Amino acid sequence: MAERITGHTELIGLIATPIRHSSSPRMHNEAFAKLGLDYAYLAFEVGAEDLEDTIKGFRAMKVRGSNVSMPNKTIVHKYLDKLSDAAEMCGSVNTIVNDNGVLTGHVTDGIGYMSGLKDAGIDIIGKKMTIVGAGGAATAIQVQAALDGVKEISIFNRKDEFYKRAQKTVKDINEKTNCKATLYDLADLDKLKEEIASSYIFANATGMGMKPLEGQTYIPDKSFLRKDLIVTDVVYAPAETALLKMAKEVGCKTLNGFPMMLFQGAAAFKLWTNQDMPIEHVKEVMG
Ligand code: NAD
Repeated sequence: MAERITGHTELIGLIATPIRHSSSPRMHNEAFAKLGLDYAYLAFEVGAEDLEDTIKGFRAMKVRGSNVSMPNKTIVHKYLDKLSDAAEMCGSVNTIVNDNGVLTGHVTDGIGYMSGLKDAGIDIIGKKMTIVGAGGAATAIQVQAALDGVKEISIFNRKDEFYKRAQKTVKDINEKTNCKATLYDLADLDKLKEEIASSYIFANATGMGMKPLEGQTYIPDKSFLRKDLIVTDVVYAPAETALLKMAKEVGCKTLNGFPMMLFQGAAAFKLWTNQDMPIEHVKEVMG
């Protein structure tokens, strides 16, 4: 590290709280070192109350960019100059790029999900997806899938505080893309079964299956799945959620949240450096 940091080294930040557990600093610094790029990636424990000052500081210091995580993802747009189409539709930013003082907010979680599928040889363009979730991860996936050309998306969520967000996502997708989106209550399990039966892919985009809901799934039994269905989860710890375990038993092709995490990072890396992340190297050191 002492050899790598010079007077020219540029800073990339990560602003969130809590954040000390994040694997992003390791992922990006490994990639910078591998490609000999003169950047350093550091995490800063910043919450909503210090967010405006932090962004002002980034501007003043001409910082190249930053990742953004909770609780700042849905607030930080107020302090930026521009938003990508996906960030605008998601109402959420996870990556900031500073181009000569113009700060643009992007969301790369959905790109990460779609790239992860592609990397696994799965093509969902022109096909139907059923997805559970209406939070940050779910919205990013739904918007990117619609922008990329998925034909139909059936969204299910509990009637909790996120349901309204899903209603807005459905409206935006139907108005601004060629994809047809429909929202259903997750309590309607007969409808969920029916929609999964006519889908090419089923995705969990909630924290179900992860602590404190580890070992649980809202899918009542194996009759909801079939062998030629692709089943994905945004959760990567544990690597195999109860949903993925059930799907594997049925014989489905499955994918956990690790590729999404990796490729959302790769998309941010490309935005800051204009270079492709050395994916195989990063997979090796992080895997
Ligand atoms: P969020 O808080 O924005 O959304 C939570 C979602 O979970 C909502 O849709 C909510 O209705 C639903 N939910 C909560 N409890 C539920 C329950 N008991 N039954 C059914 N639904 C329930 O969260 P988020 O930021 O969207 O994160 C969701 C998950 O995605 C987390 O596990 C997070 O770690 C993961 N994630 C993964 C990646 C990745 O790169 N793989 C990226 C972002 C988030």
